[in-house]
Amino acid sequence: MIPYGKHLVDEDDVDAVVEVLRNQLLTQGTVVPKFEQALCEYTGANHCVAVNSATSGLHVACLAAGVVAGDSVWTVPNSFVASANCALYCGATIDFVDIHPLTRNIDISALETKLQYAATQNCLPKALIVVHFSGLSCEMQTIQKLTQLYSIVLIEDAAHGLGGSYQQSRIGSCVYSDMSVLSFHPVKSITSAEGGAVLTNQSQLYQKLQLFAKHGVTKDPSQYQGESHGPWYYQQLELGYNYRLSDLHAALGLSQLSKLDVFIQKRSELAKVYDNALADLPLKLPVVEPQFKSAWHLYMVELIQHDRHHVYQQLHDKGVGVNVHYIPIHLQPYYQQLGFKEGDFPVSEHFYQNALTLPLFPSLTDTEQAKVIAVLHEVLT
Ligand SMILES: *Cc1c(COP(=O)(O)O)cnc(C)c1O
Repeated sequence: MIPYGKHLVDEDDVDAVVEVLRNQLLTQGTVVPKFEQALCEYTGANHCVAVNSATSGLHVACLAAGVVAGDSVWTVPNSFVASANCALYCGATIDFVDIHPLTRNIDISALETKLQYAATQNCLPKALIVVHFSGLSCEMQTIQKLTQLYSIVLIEDAAHGLGGSYQQSRIGSCVYSDMSVLSFHPVKSITSAEGGAVLTNQSQLYQKLQLFAKHGVTKDPSQYQGESHGPWYYQQLELGYNYRLSDLHAALGLSQLSKLDVFIQKRSELAKVYDNALADLPLKLPVVEPQFKSAWHLYMVELIQHDRHHVYQQLHDKGVGVNVHYIPIHLQPYYQQLGFKEGDFPVSEHFYQNALTLPLFPSLTDTEQAKVIAVLHEVLT
């Protein structure tokens, strides 16, 4: 079975991890800061806090944004549940804005309308979490204008986006947002096994992110309330969590980061092959406008006249492990129990009905891709 996504770990990566195991501290050593520095250099952001998952990263980003009980946070239904759960962890309520049928990212005119209405009702969200679905950046400049107009903290769930860019800046640069969250889960652009990071250009947010990800504890005397007791001293200033990344994981992430551009290059070449080879089939293919460079986390197609369940099954029977992204978050039983229901976000629901994610990862061979293309032709014509 050809999977839809797969990590690529080579001997350099293995050596980097073993070197930490043999010679260095396993956690709170020098590798995590190096990885954070390298992520800043790659993305162009000023500050980075590495964490043990993007889910933890989204949680601390919400906490740093000041999200508390009584607040509301908005995101899109077309994402992994973590994009919404993070608001609930803070005791806030969640609401959704539907996606645009072409980009499958947040629908900006729907956002604008919803914000205008929320302003009249005095129920604007504290934070907006946008998702760069499949590695294609949202139209950040326009979104930032809106969030600034209404004083809303703008968080990018960039779990799909590392290696992509928008206008002149790389995804994660935070040029158009307050914070960006990355994931290093094995299906993403690069992996640290489990892991994530939060990027920001604002030193105040950086300080808060560090606190919330590390027990709320600081050893920085300039942050103390009152006097230090001595060199052993530390203070807990917030109710934080242990969301640290270990140096073992960071070693893998750092080694992988040096290959990121090669991975993205390979992903975009494979995507181009799909673009050409599938153009004659009854499918909606992904569209990438010139001001964007997709990280090609996913290559997803939308069926026009075939039944998705049937096509999914036939492809699996023939060894092509397609997947589906995403079951709209608001249709999950947990979210329906909060009051959401079918019909609330019709574009996301319609996309879900017809979407298929094709195999796309750096080690996908030409022969494997040719098989995917041939099987798709067989099933769809
Ligand atoms: C993978 C993913 C996450 C969660 O990432 P973890 O590192 O596994 O916690 C969050 N949001 C999106 C959009 C994702 O694809």
